[in-house]
Amino acid sequence: MTTKLCEVCQAAFEPDPRVGERQRVCKQLRCQRERKRRAQQRWLAANPDYFKGQYGRLKDWLQAHPDYLKNYRARRSATPYDPCGDIQDELTTSQNTVLETVRDIVDIQDEITSRIITAKRHLHRMLAVIYKTSEAPVITGVNGP
Ligand SMILES: [Zn+2]
Repeated sequence: MTTKLCEVCQAAFEPDPRVGERQRVCKQLRCQRERKRRAQQRWLAANPDYFKGQYGRLKDWLQAHPDYLKNYRARRSATPYDPCGDIQDELTTSQNTVLETVRDIVDIQDEITSRIITAKRHLHRMLAVIYKTSEAPVITGVNGP
């Protein structure tokens, strides 16, 4: 897998093997969100009439739900911009990085264990050969028939 440059933050990243060559943005949450935002912007530019002529339906719906907008605005003003959200994103990203590092270490441990097992098997086979060749003459020479 080749390293690519993120189209948002310009950092080098390894694409997820499940996405492969199609991945253009690194896995940081902020870059993923920016990619989504750009894609939506592109789509809206390509489909400028998609949401046109909807107001009649919206008006009917709002008349059927008279308190909705009042409650919606109250909810919005009760939770203004949350600067901790970005910190939370950063935390999540660094937690994922730690998790990945742990997985890498476990993979390396598995690799080391399997190499040790393979090396032990080779050693046992070699020892068997050495003992046969070195002891066989002694045994036949001294105690042999
Ligand atoms: Zn990025």
